[in-house]
Amino acid sequence: MYFDHSATTPVHPDVQNLINSINHEIYGNPSSIYHLGQKARSIIENARNQIAKSINTTSKKIIFTSGGTEANNHVLWSMLKRKKNHVISNVIEHPAIIKVLQFLTDLNVNHSLIQVNNQGIIDIDDLINKINNNTGLISIMMANNEIGTIQPLDNVIKLAHDKGILVHTDAVQCLGKIDIDVEKLGVDFLSLSAHKFYGPKGVGILYVKNPEKMHPLIIGGNQENSLRGGTENVASIAGMGLAAEIAINCIENTIKHLKTLEKQFKDALNNNFKNIMYNGNQIKKIPGLVSASFPNNDSKIMLIRLDREKIYVSNGSACGAGDVKPSPVLSAIGLDDASNLSTLRFSFGRTNNVEEIKFLIDRLNKIVSY
Ligand code: PLP
Repeated sequence: MYFDHSATTPVHPDVQNLINSINHEIYGNPSSIYHLGQKARSIIENARNQIAKSINTTSKKIIFTSGGTEANNHVLWSMLKRKKNHVISNVIEHPAIIKVLQFLTDLNVNHSLIQVNNQGIIDIDDLINKINNNTGLISIMMANNEIGTIQPLDNVIKLAHDKGILVHTDAVQCLGKIDIDVEKLGVDFLSLSAHKFYGPKGVGILYVKNPEKMHPLIIGGNQENSLRGGTENVASIAGMGLAAEIAINCIENTIKHLKTLEKQFKDALNNNFKNIMYNGNQIKKIPGLVSASFPNNDSKIMLIRLDREKIYVSNGSACGAGDVKPSPVLSAIGLDDASNLSTLRFSFGRTNNVEEIKFLIDRLNKIVSY
């Protein structure tokens, strides 16, 4: 039973079929001018339209990448070419932001990280204080991958644009769970990753409001309007396009379903485990993501015991790859190490159902000591 959809999602069967058939039949290079190449090209452009539509923009503003990590890197590395290159981000961003910023310090791209409150919401006053004359970019995630907290991006964008500062958001956790309308939001850059919305791994996008002012990160051929060299991953791009279309077509049902499962799960947790603690803002959050601390229990041991029952959940973020150190995100919102290391993240998906939640609770009852 899979309850780790924030780590990755199973590929939708229609998406898998599409990927297989493209790999099999339309193997031409999209840059080739003969028919088979042009078929591949039109598949890419169709997927670009699907992705653009899913975030309410036009296709020329979409750059295909190898995933969320590359999309984030693309924006941050592009600061090397800008006059105002001080970046502001926050302490609970994904390592694909924080570590890149640390690396870029050696190349004279400086940054400041703003604090969050005990629910993981950014401190706007801290943001205002950290803006200086050289600030060129603010990068704040739309929602956090470990606790699900949604950030007040509208406020950030208004504040930033009043001062002529660009804004990037890592929205990797959000497509299909939160309405994303880049035109309405006014954001300058936005990252997405297909494997978080039932698409394939290793493919994503960067939305760029003004692509004519952007520089490439991966330099080579003229693909992606010279903004991302390299022969395109045609089948995965097509799979991502279809996955985005499906995600948007069923977004209302998905949100409703995830909220139902979340409520059922939390009600049962509250009945069974007296001292359970939930992390992050419980209202402004991604539906279906529950970060819960089970005092006096070790998350790694709980995880292994659940694994024996073929129940898959995570402690900390999956991207930490097997790390058992306290999660920096949970520390940043004020958890002490003991609570931090007693935390599990459950993230439900479209194919989970009420019976599975009952089974999960039943097994947790056997595994958790309280
Ligand atoms: N940003 C966030 C918020 C994520 O949750 C992840 C992956 O877990 C990434 C970026 C990295 O995305 P990808 O795995 O596509 O490189």
